[in-house]
Amino acid sequence: MAQLVGRDCVLCGAPISSSLDARFCTACGSPVHAECSLRILASPPDGCCAACGAPRAVLEARLLEKQERAESARSQAGLTSVVLGVACILGGTLATVGCSCLTLGAGSGRFVIATGAIAVGIGFIVRGLRQLPHR
Ligand SMILES: [Zn+2]
Ligand SMILES: [Zn+2]
Repeated sequence: MAQLVGRDCVLCGAPISSSLDARFCTACGSPVHAECSLRILASPPDGCCAACGAPRAVLEARLLEKQERAESARSQAGLTSVVLGVACILGGTLATVGCSCLTLGAGSGRFVIATGAIAVGIGFIVRGLRQLPHR
């Protein structure tokens, strides 16, 4: 639970000094004084939050913030995926080279393992690139 005391009420702009006379809106998450919320909701302006009366600009800013967080989490996951894929391909390639040196072509099974690792690696990279944001 985020700290309520010390945040600024989105309705009047004054800092919230006690959690008794203020709350986070359950709909949009804005910190508001209970009193400010009641006053605004008596005659709610166009496009404001129906639950607390936060102005549309505040709602849009919060939405944008949420989207940006989601996007950066996604691209982080995508990046991890790509790195993993590269590691798999490198591992597969090294295994192939190493095995063919050591065993001089004995057993095609090792090639299957190496090819499998490379295929998995390509899968990771493709998935990771899809998660990265397109600009
Ligand atoms: Zn207020
Ligand atoms: Zn609200």
